[in-house]
Parts: sequence; structure tokens; C-alpha cells
Amino acid sequence: MKLFEWEAKAVFREHGLPVPRGRVVKDPEEAAAVAQELGRPVVVKAQVLSGGRGKAGGINFAGDPAAAQAAAARLLGMMLAGEPVRSVLVEERLDIAREFYLSVTIDPALPAPVLMVSGAGGIDIEKQAATTPQLVFTQPVEIARGLQGFQVWNLLADAGLPPAAMHQGVTVATELFRLFRQRDAELAEINPLALTTAGSLVAADAKLIINDNALFRQPWVPRTRAHFDHDLEYEAAQHGLNYVKLSGSIGLLCTGAGLSLATLDLVAREGARAANFLESGGANYRNAYHGLRLVLGDPEVKVLLINTFGLVSRADVICRGLADALKELGTVKPVVAAIRGTGEEEARRIFWEELGIASCPDTESAVRKAVKMAREAQ
Ligand code: GDP
Ligand code: MN
Repeated sequence: MKLFEWEAKAVFREHGLPVPRGRVVKDPEEAAAVAQELGRPVVVKAQVLSGGRGKAGGINFAGDPAAAQAAAARLLGMMLAGEPVRSVLVEERLDIAREFYLSVTIDPALPAPVLMVSGAGGIDIEKQAATTPQLVFTQPVEIARGLQGFQVWNLLADAGLPPAAMHQGVTVATELFRLFRQRDAELAEINPLALTTAGSLVAADAKLIINDNALFRQPWVPRTRAHFDHDLEYEAAQHGLNYVKLSGSIGLLCTGAGLSLATLDLVAREGARAANFLESGGANYRNAYHGLRLVLGDPEVKVLLINTFGLVSRADVICRGLADALKELGTVKPVVAAIRGTGEEEARRIFWEELGIASCPDTESAVRKAVKMAREAQ
């Protein structure tokens, strides 16, 4: 789950990380009120999940409450990278002398968390990481040993943090790493980490992505409609399902992410497009009813393709759940199935005797059949 900047900053604040004073608001008058309270020039920042807001015009400076109100009025309701601006963050404007980049993420190749620092932070860090990688310094963290103070110190010195800011820099980086672990983050990023003209470090921006597989133990993570791209994805999340809406006519319900991806590829190879990605393996096969309801409820779906390979979760158990759900939903859309794995004889019998659906022998033939039926239904 990706958090909004204002949500990430609230978490940062709980961890004692330095963030600018300010508040998130939903209307221009409130923006003026916050600027009034702060009593100094402010920055008005569009709250969207996509990055690159600075370049897209989502970051505005305002010298007084009236200008803050005008900036908020302009931003609210605007679309940034296809996402509506539902709220803006109004904060004290920092006097920035230098911009650093600081983040903690996982390097899957090591595999280990890595602390990354650059003295060339700001809005072009991705480009700089590609063109001048020597300006980005990384420190892998050995989990059992933890992040060592001297490692942080050396890294910040390499990145060119001035000696006077070193003590605070070590504290900020150490706490960011602690936050990353405690919150089960995939990414905790400060870009820019502003070195103000007064010599202190402040997180001017904040990005926090929480590992979806850890949400069960991170109950504080907000998951409102605004955190999702599509109504269906939001609804699926309420049932613990990972649903990605795509634009195509074949609804997919596959067991496991790998089989889902392989099926997506095969659908594309047949020149068709899938309507969704929905992984229903593992613990989620018990959620068959909600999964099927979402896929079949998509008006773009002309054919439902069920592709199972029962290993740990038996095919007969999965298909028992699916058959009951299909009967309850009373679907009128055609269903194509490829049922394989442990307990497949029983699973196929359930589908044939109770639903009149004959299983295809393999994924390829099921995909071809589904694509043909979807074309005929257009
Ligand atoms: P992003 O473009 O979505 O990453 O949004 P940021 O919050 O990082 O803002 C983009 C840029 O705006 C930053 O790199 C800064 O250069 C600038 N910026 C943001 N907040 C402030 C501020 O309080 N004072 C100043 N001077 N610049 C700021
Ligand atoms: Mn940024």
C-alpha cells in the first residue's frame, strides 16, 4: 500500500523525524486558514499517489493566506497523472540550501535492506541515478547486526553532508531505518531531505510504501477509496483480495500469481486482452464468492476463465468453493475452466455434474476457447 505524502509525514512525525509544520485540507478556505496559522510563506502540495508532482505543477508556493487559497483552489479537483487531487497539504515553506536524497528499500538481489543517500536529491534523482550512479551511495544492512552508526556516518559523509549537519543526519537515517522495519515498509523515502539555510535537516517530501503481505500486522495502514485506482480494486481489498482492473473482455480467476501471469501472457498471445488480474490461491480460495462476484460484475467481462492448479490448496476444495459461488451468483456469462492438480478427478466431476462445465485439458486450450467465445460474444 502506498501512502499519501501527508500520511507518510504523520508516521514520520510519530518517529520523531523532522517534518515541516502544516496540515492537509480539502477546501481553499481551510488552506488560507492554515497559512494564517503558520503565519509565514507556505507551500501548497497536491496530494496524489503518483510522484513527479513538482514537474506536473502540483507544488505551489504562496506568500500569504490569499495566495494559498488561490493555489489550493487551482489544485483541488485537478487531475495529476490521471489521478484526481482530493486534498492539498499546506506547509511552512522551507528555505532550502541543499537537497539530499535518503531512502531505505529492499535490494532483492542481495537480499537485504539498503540505505541509499545522494547529495544530488530533488526532483531528478531517478535520472541522476541512471546517468551518474556514482552520486548515489548505498549501504546494505545485515539484519541480524542492524544498521551501525559508523556505516551511516560514512555514507552521509560520502554523499557530502556537511559536518555540522552530521549528527542530525545520522539520527534521521537511523530512525528512518527503524521506521522501515517496524512498519513493514517496502520503501521509506525522503526526497528531498532539505538542508535549510539555518543548517538543519527537514523531510520536505515523504514517501512510504507498506508491504501488502504485512497488512495483517499493520492495522494502522489507511485503505480508503483514494488509495486505489478503481472501485473494483477498492472493493476487492475489503475482502483481502488483490484485484487489478485491466481493459479486456476475458475475466480471469487463477490460483496463484504465477499461473495468473502465465494465463495473462497466453491470452495476449491469442491476440485478446484480459479484464483483470485476480490471484485467488493460498488463503484466498475461501474468498471465491467475492472474487467471482467482482470479476463477473465487471460489465466488460464477456467470458470467465477459471484456471486452477491445486497443490497445497487441493483442486477439489477450490472447485467446491467456486461451484457453490457460481450457483449462488447464478451467472449468465459463459465459463471456461482448466482444472488440474491434487484432487482433479473430483474437482472436474463437481464442475461437470453440478454446473455442466467440462474442464479443458490444459491452459493453452482453455485460453483459446475463452478467446473464441469472447470474440463471438462481442
Ligand atoms: P515531488 O515532485 O512529487 O517529489 O514533490 P516534492 O515534495 O519533492 O517537491 C518537489 C520540489 O519542490 C522539491 O524537490 C523542492 O525543490 C521543492 N519544494 C518542496 N517543498 C519545498 C519547500 O518547502 N521549500 C522550497 N524552497 N522548496 C520546496
Ligand atoms: Mn519528492
